[in-house]
Amino acid sequence: MSRDMLTIGAFAKACRLSPKALRLYDELDLLRPSRVDPDTGYRYYAVEQLEQARLVAWLRRLGMPLARIRQVCALRPADAAHEIRAYWAQVEAETAARRDLAEFLVRHMSGTPRKDTTMLELRYSAHSDRGLVRPANQDTAYAGARLLAVADGCGPAGAPASSAAVEALRFLDTDELPAGNVLNLLEDAVQGATEAVRDAANGAEEDTGTTLTALLWTGSRLALVHIGDSRAYLLRDGALFRITDDHTVVQAMIDEGRLTPEEATTHPQRMLLLKALSPTAPATPDLRLQDAEPGDRYLLCSDGLSRVVPDAAIRHLLNSAPAPDAAVHALIAAANEAGGPDNVSCVVADVVEAAA
Ligand code: MG
Repeated sequence: MSRDMLTIGAFAKACRLSPKALRLYDELDLLRPSRVDPDTGYRYYAVEQLEQARLVAWLRRLGMPLARIRQVCALRPADAAHEIRAYWAQVEAETAARRDLAEFLVRHMSGTPRKDTTMLELRYSAHSDRGLVRPANQDTAYAGARLLAVADGCGPAGAPASSAAVEALRFLDTDELPAGNVLNLLEDAVQGATEAVRDAANGAEEDTGTTLTALLWTGSRLALVHIGDSRAYLLRDGALFRITDDHTVVQAMIDEGRLTPEEATTHPQRMLLLKALSPTAPATPDLRLQDAEPGDRYLLCSDGLSRVVPDAAIRHLLNSAPAPDAAVHALIAAANEAGGPDNVSCVVADVVEAAA
C-alpha cells in the first residue's frame, strides 16, 4: 500500500468525521475512498482527499442536507461559495419565519382576553382572478360580515366543487349565528360542504376535490376551519403570521424530517394535496379559535398567491394598502406580475371598532 494512503480510522481522525459517517458518505457517493481492498473490503483514503472531507464536515456543521453537500462538492470553489451563501440566506429566512411564529405563540399563550368592551366588526373584500395561464377559474372567494372563505377546486369538476363548498357554509353568514359551540358548528358545516362537493362532482368523484379555508366571525373571535393548501395569515402590529399549515404531501415529509423546506420547493410532488374536501374521503379539517384585536388584518388566499409571492412581499403589500379592497387588488396584481401561473383568490378583512 502507498505511504500516502490512510486507513478509515486514521482518515476519520484527521478529518474529524466518524468512520460510520465515512461509510455512509461512501454509500451516498459523497466521498468515495481512493481504494477498497478487494479481499478485505477495507477502505483506504488518499491524503489529498482530506480537504474535501473537511469541507463535508464543515457543511454538515452548518446543517446542510447531504444531497446538497454532494452538489457543492462537485462545484468549482467560486460556484461552491455562491451555493453556500444561497443556502445560508435560506436558513436565515426560515429562522425569521419561525421566530415570528414563536413570538405569536408566546403572545397567544400568555395573553389575557380583551377586557375592553368595544364592539368590533369586520371590514372586508374578496376577489378571485383566473390568472394568466389557466383556461378557467376553479377558485371561489367569498367575504361577508360573518364569513370569509377561499376554496381552490381541482379535477374535472373543480369549479363547481369549490363554489359548492363555499355555498354550503353561507348559512353561517347571518346576524343570528346558530346556537352552539362555534367550532362544532363549523365542523358540522364542513360535513355539509363535503356532501355538496359530492353532488357537484357529478360522476367525477375520484378526481374532484377542493381546498377550504374559512373564518367565522363571532363578534370577538374568529373561528378557523382549514383543509388543503390554501392559507390564512394574520397581520398584527406590522408582523405577518401564517396561521394554517399546508396539507401537502411534501409538508408531511418536511414534518417527518425526510425532506428539507428547500428540497420541497423543487420536489416533483410539491403540488400533491395530502388532504382536501373530497367526495371519497371523510374530511378532517384543522380547527382553531383566534382572539380578535382591533387593527388585526386577516388574509385568506389560494396557492396561486402563496406559491409565487414570497411572505415578505405579502407582508409589505398588506402593510401598505389602506383598505381591504386595495390590499386584495395589490396582492392579485403581484401574483399576475409573477407570471400568474394559477388561479388566484384573496380575501382581506380588517377588525375595526364598530361604527356607533
Ligand atoms: Mg391553486
